[in-house]
Amino acid sequence: MVHMKVSKRAQAVPPSATIAVDSKAKQMKAQGIDVIGFGAGEPDFDTPDFIKESAIKALKAGKVRYTPAEGTLELRTAVAEKLKRDNHLTYTPEQVIVNIGAKHSIYAAMQAVIDPGDEVIMPCPYWVTYPETIKLAEGTMKVVETDPKNDFKMTAAQLKAALTKKTAMVVLNSPNNPGGFTYTPDELAALAKALEGTDVVVLSDEIYEKLIYGDTKFISFAALSADAYNRTLTVNGLSKTFAMTGWRLGYTAGPANVIKAMARLQSHMTQNPVTFTQDAAITALKDTSDTVEKMRLEFEKRSKIIAGLLNAIPGVVCPRPTGAFYAFPDVSKHFGRTIGGVKIAGSMEFAQALLEQANVAVVPGAPFGAPNNIRLSFACSIQNIEKGVNRIAEWLK
Ligand SMILES: *Cc1c(COP(=O)(O)O)cnc(C)c1O
Repeated sequence: MVHMKVSKRAQAVPPSATIAVDSKAKQMKAQGIDVIGFGAGEPDFDTPDFIKESAIKALKAGKVRYTPAEGTLELRTAVAEKLKRDNHLTYTPEQVIVNIGAKHSIYAAMQAVIDPGDEVIMPCPYWVTYPETIKLAEGTMKVVETDPKNDFKMTAAQLKAALTKKTAMVVLNSPNNPGGFTYTPDELAALAKALEGTDVVVLSDEIYEKLIYGDTKFISFAALSADAYNRTLTVNGLSKTFAMTGWRLGYTAGPANVIKAMARLQSHMTQNPVTFTQDAAITALKDTSDTVEKMRLEFEKRSKIIAGLLNAIPGVVCPRPTGAFYAFPDVSKHFGRTIGGVKIAGSMEFAQALLEQANVAVVPGAPFGAPNNIRLSFACSIQNIEKGVNRIAEWLK
């Protein structure tokens, strides 16, 4: 028998914890079990029709060949125009690369910037994909513990204390996954100030920029100052804003030398994002109708409902999400209990027992670096939110 080996590199990468919960829930659903899923990290809306039409038109027009690896000039121009219009950022099309989802933007950016041993500063909790992409770039992750009382946001003093001669990059994600926490413009300005005089790159993952609630204000890190602009790779994509997760379209803007390096890598890794998808992306980025605002309003309504219901459960503390579509309650008061014969030692056991005993799927906080919390996506109907959170309340009784 031939035994095909798996590289050490691949062995070191675990599957995504968020996708693992989602698969288990889907499997239970397939068996006919009535599972309420709060696992999904994607909007429950369909992609707007006018965007779909644009892809169909492109297909029919024969747009089925390779484009430049970095994406068509037309799309990169549309991205530059979007960044000017929405984010007050001036980029030429040469400073923009289109990637196969923002996940791929982050991977390519880290491959282009990080050398073995370089340190990457990561405020905790963080999205599960960052540690693995840092590892694959042979960087060292330097976790910065944050205070839940400060909505898990890194302060300028904490950032300064984490900087060393080896720091190559800081990853910022606001509004953030897993908690929907959003830095204020002042907080970001303080972080920018802390980096002045260094060559540290900021990777600013702005995928949730349009999904903000209440009086939350969004500002792009690169828009803070000339210094911030010069050190920032601005990452964004269409998945969350336009309900286009399956289309795989993300982009990165920044200094031309790094964007060119990403394009060289991309030309060998994947080549261009799907050609007719690029046309649909142009249509989406040029849209100034209320399509996105309608989805935002719906998410905002749900954010209030889910936080209210969770906070009504004894021993559960849920800050109001300021952005994205996740509630991130602290459930640690229940750790140490035995429920349904299972000892709830931490967030992993909590999520597993909740799924098995009450048929509610949530994601444990531990893989995000927040072991006291669980993540509930409210990218689902209000009816589901009410039914699911009620089940959690009953189960905890
Ligand atoms: C969903 C998500 C992304 C990437 O999404 P793509 O579908 O790859 O564009 C990037 N960052 C965060 C924090 C996310 O939650």
